[in-house]
Amino acid sequence: MTEPSDAATRRAVKPVICYPNETLPAPDLELYAQARKGAVKLGEVLVPPRDAACFRVKAGQFFRISSVEGPQVGDLNLWNAEDLSERFYSGKSRALHGTHLTVAERMWSSFPYLRPMATIVKDTLDWYGIDAYGGSVHDVIGTRCDPYTGNLLSGTQYHHCCHSNLTRALADEMGLSLHEAEAHVHDVLNVFMCTGFTRDTGQYFMKASPVRPGDHLEFFAEIDLLGALSACPGGDCSTEHSSDTARCHPLLVEMFEPEPGALNGWASPPVNGYDRSHGRG
Ligand SMILES: [Zn+2]
Repeated sequence: MTEPSDAATRRAVKPVICYPNETLPAPDLELYAQARKGAVKLGEVLVPPRDAACFRVKAGQFFRISSVEGPQVGDLNLWNAEDLSERFYSGKSRALHGTHLTVAERMWSSFPYLRPMATIVKDTLDWYGIDAYGGSVHDVIGTRCDPYTGNLLSGTQYHHCCHSNLTRALADEMGLSLHEAEAHVHDVLNVFMCTGFTRDTGQYFMKASPVRPGDHLEFFAEIDLLGALSACPGGDCSTEHSSDTARCHPLLVEMFEPEPGALNGWASPPVNGYDRSHGRG
């Protein structure tokens, strides 16, 4: 199509932020930091390369995901530990906070709950910012690598994509069949993954993660959580995923509990206040 005569004028219209987030309830980061100081380690889970593992944290506890041994990306799912229908909502978290998450930002839950599930309290990669390609770390713009897309694009039957890893881990944790568990697996927080959209074609891109052993991302659990983390078969995601060719490393999840009374004044957030009448009755 030929451009209209006022094309330049239309393109020059300034964008507005869809969801100004000044009115989002702000986390009390100082209280969390104080509580974290006296917290004791409860346990840890080592997620093997090209596989996933589940972990549980109670509301008011902390969990930390660390790079160990070498650069590695992780795909994180979260559920309400008592109700798998409340799960992480990647798309709304993106709409509220932007394409990549960091300190003070939240992992929000699905409708009709839409409340904070976890708050990021520490990010050793926060120095990275947004690079010259528009890339940044810990995205909520990807989905999770999965065998269906691989089959669609190249006819493969690969079984250690994050989607399958998360499915197996949840099935084992909950005593569900693989098909039952698969329905609960959802789009992830791509921990340590460096991604963006190309400016010329708008395509999703990845590049070698800047993560190094010792780097970590730490969360405060706002509600009782069941988590599952997959150590992506893409390794640092510098070349390819959905195959066994990339060099992969484990990821460490550690859980911490604050001292009794350390969270005085804090309460687990209630579910969303919308009355759910949807305009009827
Ligand atoms: Zn993956």
